[in-house]
Amino acid sequence: MTVSPTAALFRDDAYLTETQARVVGLTEAGGIELDRTIFYATSGGQPGDIGHMIRADGSRIAIAGAVTGETKEQIVHLPAEGEATPEVGETLTLSIDWERRYRLMKMHAACHLLSVVCPFPITGASVSEDDSRVDFDMPEGGLSKEEATRRVMELVRANHPIFTRWISDEEFAANPGLVKSKNVRPPVGTGRIRLVCIGEGASVDSQPCGGTHVAWTGEIGDIHIGKIEKKGRENRRFRLRFGAAPSA
Ligand SMILES: [Zn+2]
Repeated sequence: MTVSPTAALFRDDAYLTETQARVVGLTEAGGIELDRTIFYATSGGQPGDIGHMIRADGSRIAIAGAVTGETKEQIVHLPAEGEATPEVGETLTLSIDWERRYRLMKMHAACHLLSVVCPFPITGASVSEDDSRVDFDMPEGGLSKEEATRRVMELVRANHPIFTRWISDEEFAANPGLVKSKNVRPPVGTGRIRLVCIGEGASVDSQPCGGTHVAWTGEIGDIHIGKIEKKGRENRRFRLRFGAAPSA
């Protein structure tokens, strides 16, 4: 069976909360493959979306997650346990848990801002709806949580635009400084790389990323570094939390 890529609508519009799609396949494990989707599939430290799909008869299929399939371009939707399986060819109305996704978009954007104020190589990251972490390869005393919070909040309050831009593999290869992760290299070979840019003309930052982000830094609202954990001699884990920093 040939697998065709799923049109990932969230890549061009992260604010789409509902759309219609056609079932193009079912995996052996019961996963649903669609011609297009608004469900982000777990990758790059961002969890996949949850939500539901509505069938023509009005019945609902709860979706507990979305993951990539045989290729990174293929998205498989995972029904919650005990849910009905749709037929191939059926048209469904998709709906994501927007409240959760919007929090993930804010958190993910905040992680980018943290990487701007903390300019050390990134060794790992994980975004979640309440608490996110970014690991940096940095020495002791590189940056305090108070200073990091203050500088991230400056970028939030400046309300910079966040937008995406595609560049060619060649342009990417000519700009090695774009990559901030120490171990992970974005996939090359598809001919183009998606850059997430912050600020007019990408004046604040640009880096390869396939995730979903808010359109303006101001949407993030109050956020702070809850703590910085020491993970090894030169590895610091920054934990980001929503809300203003608790006063000491
Ligand atoms: Zn990102």
